[in-house]
Amino acid sequence: MIIDIHSHLYKIEKVEEKLKEIIKKIKCEKIVLAGIEGNYWEYILGNEEVIKIYKKYPSFVIPFAHFRLGIDKKERIDKFLKIGFKGLKFIGPLKNYDDEEYFPIYEKAEKENLICLFHTGIVSRKTAENKQENISSSRMRPVYLETISRNFPKLIIIGAHLGYPWYEEAVEVARVNPNIYFDLSGPCIYSRNYEFFKEIFWIDNKVLGENSIIKKGKILFGSDIYYDRIPAYINDIKKFFERIGCKDYLEKFFYEVGYSILKRGGII
Ligand SMILES: [Zn+2]
Repeated sequence: MIIDIHSHLYKIEKVEEKLKEIIKKIKCEKIVLAGIEGNYWEYILGNEEVIKIYKKYPSFVIPFAHFRLGIDKKERIDKFLKIGFKGLKFIGPLKNYDDEEYFPIYEKAEKENLICLFHTGIVSRKTAENKQENISSSRMRPVYLETISRNFPKLIIIGAHLGYPWYEEAVEVARVNPNIYFDLSGPCIYSRNYEFFKEIFWIDNKVLGENSIIKKGKILFGSDIYYDRIPAYINDIKKFFERIGCKDYLEKFFYEVGYSILKRGGII
């Protein structure tokens, strides 16, 4: 079985059928679908569509609402809760993720036990022509999650893409802070060689190995790609963990870590 902690509803034809199909095909027990609002991420559907799909398929869909840091008011979270959202998705903040302006939002999320999924790392550009003055990847560096974790120790924090390309920062932040996890979606497993990951994960490290993020169970599966590409991606992930000598971690990666997070979030 699989738990997918990071997916979306894509603007593709027959998205509902394709979603149901992939769930069956990969034996996915739960899938987090995060809405993305605004014009920039034009290939992903928004909060409204996500909640509609959730109402139709509550057995396997977990709806996350896009909360726009710097634009949305804290009160919006109450509306999200009322209509059934189980978590929040953050991307494209107007200030650094750990700016104190956002603390009341994290405080509220912690109080309501809402799991928070943060985009971390570089943000891709889909349309080079348009001005996108409000996007800065540097505001989404993984290290900012540390401040949030220390101030809101019960908040469940998931960073996306292992902070690509700031992997070491992400790995250390997850290793040190009990409530921070990362998914490996995006270019991660293809972007560096196996030796690099073995080194930063402390796989063969005789002195530090016991405290590696693998031992601590801090990375988990999120797909964040079009559904038809997921099966090939799953195979590549299996190969990745084999090649870095962590075949035993696969069960945890695909299921157990996600399950424990969803349980702590009161979702299962
Ligand atoms: Zn995503």
